[in-house]
Parts: sequence; C-alpha cells; structure tokens
Amino acid sequence: MIELNKIAKPQSLVNNGDDWTKDLMDELYASGVINKTKQSRYNKADVKQAVKDETREKCAYCESKITHIYPGDIEHIIPKALYPRLTFTWSNLTFGCYWCNNKKRDFLNKDCMMLNPYKDKTGDHLRAFGPLLMHINTSKRGEITWRKLELNRPELRDRRQEKIEELQLLIDKYNNETVQALKNLIEAEINDFIESNEYSFSLKQYFEDNKNAV
Ligand SMILES: [Zn+2]
Repeated sequence: MIELNKIAKPQSLVNNGDDWTKDLMDELYASGVINKTKQSRYNKADVKQAVKDETREKCAYCESKITHIYPGDIEHIIPKALYPRLTFTWSNLTFGCYWCNNKKRDFLNKDCMMLNPYKDKTGDHLRAFGPLLMHINTSKRGEITWRKLELNRPELRDRRQEKIEELQLLIDKYNNETVQALKNLIEAEINDFIESNEYSFSLKQYFEDNKNAV
C-alpha cells in the first residue's frame, strides 16, 4: 500500500456534492432509509477518471492494476453505509479492486482504524519482504489492515513475485555498472519502473534491500 495524494476535486462533485449530500441526508432523516438511487450519484465518469488518475489505475489498497480480469470501482474509504454524509466527500473516495472491496465491505473500527493511504505513512505500519507483505509488529492499525484485506493472498504474492523478477533484471544491470553516470541513468529507469508498476510498495523495498548487493 503506497502513499497517495488527492488531486483536484472532479467537477460533478464541485457542482453537486453539497446538494447531493443534503438531498440524501434529508430523506434519510425523514424516512429512516438510504435512497439507493440518490446514494449512487457519486458514480460519474469524471469522478471515476479522477480516482483512476490519482491511483495510476491501481487499487489503493493492494496496488493491483484494475483491468477487466481484475475489476474495480470507486471506493469509499469510510464506508458510505455507516457514514452516508461522506458519500460525496472527495477526500473519502478512491479506487479499489473488487477483491479488497469485498474483504473490507462496511468494516470500520473506530478504536483501530484501517490505514488510509492518503493520510498515513504506510511504511510505518507495513513492511515488504520480497513478495510477502507483513505488518510491523507494533502496529495494530497495520495488522488490522493486513488481516482484513488479506494483503498476502496467494494471487498477490504471485503477481508481486513476477514484478520483482522483472525488476531484478534492472537491479543486476545497476549493480554491475561501473560508470557512475550510467548507474545514475539506470537508477532513474528503476525508479520509473517502480512508480509506474503494480506493487510499488514492495518493489521500492526490494530495490532498497538489493541495490549494491554483491
Ligand atoms: Zn485491491
């Protein structure tokens, strides 16, 4: 889980977010139920595009690329079922894969909040060991996130391993290079590879652990 930054609020939320929230909450107070049609108004093309842009089309939690075989959608960090007032709040929206969304669902523990990749230093709570991802022993929030999302599920381990093997080729080149200027260029290529690929959190750690290894 890499740290993420919010980009500008999409126009449909700028234009309508407050009205949609008021409309949803007014009906909820009056009738006691959440109107599903009104609740789903966040699902707009520009909102989806914005969360895709800021996550590089990866799941904000497990960092899998969202594809047709690994589907995903706009995700509410704080569950909208528990906090309907946050349904259209831009800071509460991100991009999540079907699997993480399914494991997380409406889970929320106020005493031990799951990590929020936009607010937390994820490296203080999670640590990658090759394709494995572990929580840091002293971090309860890391542990609850890791257990709830099953961040070591087998398909994630396999896919991380594939990316590590691709990265290893570049690291070998880097480690064997004797001309410093070339080493710098290879390092830039490695950093670009890490940032643009799935599982950046694991790849970044792997490079740290294996650069300059003899
Ligand atoms: Zn995911």
